[in-house]
Amino acid sequence: MKLIRCECGYVARGENNDQVLGEIRGHMATDHPAVLASVTQQDLIGWIVTE
Ligand SMILES: [Zn+2]
Repeated sequence: MKLIRCECGYVARGENNDQVLGEIRGHMATDHPAVLASVTQQDLIGWIVTE
């Protein structure tokens, strides 16, 4: 299981990197569009935690 904890407390989960990146992008597009615009794919990958 891969997950990314957003600073707001939201947790995106997925079976693999692509899924969890899709989840966090969807969440950030809704709740943090300005943050999403300023982060790179590498930043997002760096936030992934494997459990
Ligand atoms: Zn958030």
